[in-house]
Amino acid sequence: MGCDSFPFSRAMQGVRTLSPYQPGKPVSDLQRELGIRDIVKLASNENPLGPSPRVLEAVREAVGGIARYPDGSGHALRHALAAHHDIDAACITLGNGSNDVLDLIARAFLGPGREAVFSEHAFAVYPIATQLAGATARVAAACDGLNGQRHGHDLAALRALVTADTGVVFIANPNNPTGTWLTEAPLRDFIAALPPECVVVLDEAYVEYADVPGYVEASGWLAVHPNLVVVRTFSKAYGLAGLRVGYALSSPAIADLLNRVRQPFNVNSLALVAAEAALADPAHVAASASLNRRERERLARELAARDVEVVPSAGNFLLAGFGRPARALYDGLLREGVIVRPVENYGLPDHLRITVGLPAENGRFLDALDRVRGRAA
Ligand SMILES: *Cc1c(COP(=O)(O)O)cnc(C)c1O
Repeated sequence: MGCDSFPFSRAMQGVRTLSPYQPGKPVSDLQRELGIRDIVKLASNENPLGPSPRVLEAVREAVGGIARYPDGSGHALRHALAAHHDIDAACITLGNGSNDVLDLIARAFLGPGREAVFSEHAFAVYPIATQLAGATARVAAACDGLNGQRHGHDLAALRALVTADTGVVFIANPNNPTGTWLTEAPLRDFIAALPPECVVVLDEAYVEYADVPGYVEASGWLAVHPNLVVVRTFSKAYGLAGLRVGYALSSPAIADLLNRVRQPFNVNSLALVAAEAALADPAHVAASASLNRRERERLARELAARDVEVVPSAGNFLLAGFGRPARALYDGLLREGVIVRPVENYGLPDHLRITVGLPAENGRFLDALDRVRGRAA
């Protein structure tokens, strides 16, 4: 039977019209396509130091147990997180990566007749989860630089889109792919002014890197805002992207709702022990953040010296603007064995997103950039 004999039209509307998430190009793809070895991947905001050695030890120890189902409630990890955040374990929902958590939120609070509000250049999973839930996206224009960080979230524009039909407001702080961040007072005021039944998601995937003026993590506000959901991940600073673990912090009422939607074994047994071990090694996270800070500053300086627009970043990546479509530059870098991230799908065709890597990796990127741009000139 032919592979295309099934009628496309049978799929639900939200599925037929969906543009799937475009991940960073895997190293193995580039190896296969161009036969290049020694590839540098700065495309998916992974931790270049990898996970803590304690994680590897814990995973090795647990691997013999994989014939058993994982603990479906994730009891040990939830309690470790509860202690870490000084919050009740009933406020924590575990996910198969934070993408899973975002999807749980969309399925619990979005659907036909409901709207999701988020910003232009916001994280790509928000429109996807919204559309799959059958809800309507309302997209606020980004800041132009006069009213906040250029390309960043405009809280007044977001607020203007909120109606009685708004199920969820999605905000990433810091935001991917822009690296921009919102500061404490405006963000707190924004949340306080929302209708109390409107769920507001603060996606803090890069919180560990956000050593920038005015930044605040939002978990301290959970006690006053039962409609707030703070989303965290082990994929970035903790170095566990391949294992898929994330979580939500919320009121117990929202956690109860998310838990109804959650698949019983959504976080696997190796991921559970790995996350717990990662949490127990804060020094590794601190070392990762401090390396990131140094190298992010260096990359920003080097790019600015090359007349590239660099958006100030609170994450482990930089959004770089080249003043003209950046696709050819991306392709040229691939041929040099350097994978970065094109961001046309975020409405930023003139930009590339570059993950901050190890010093030598960042050097490879800068050298490759000079060669590619030198050829084009
Ligand atoms: C990388 C990222 C995530 C993390 O996704 P996981 O599913 O946890 O790997 C979440 N939100 C944003 C904004 C991100 O950039």
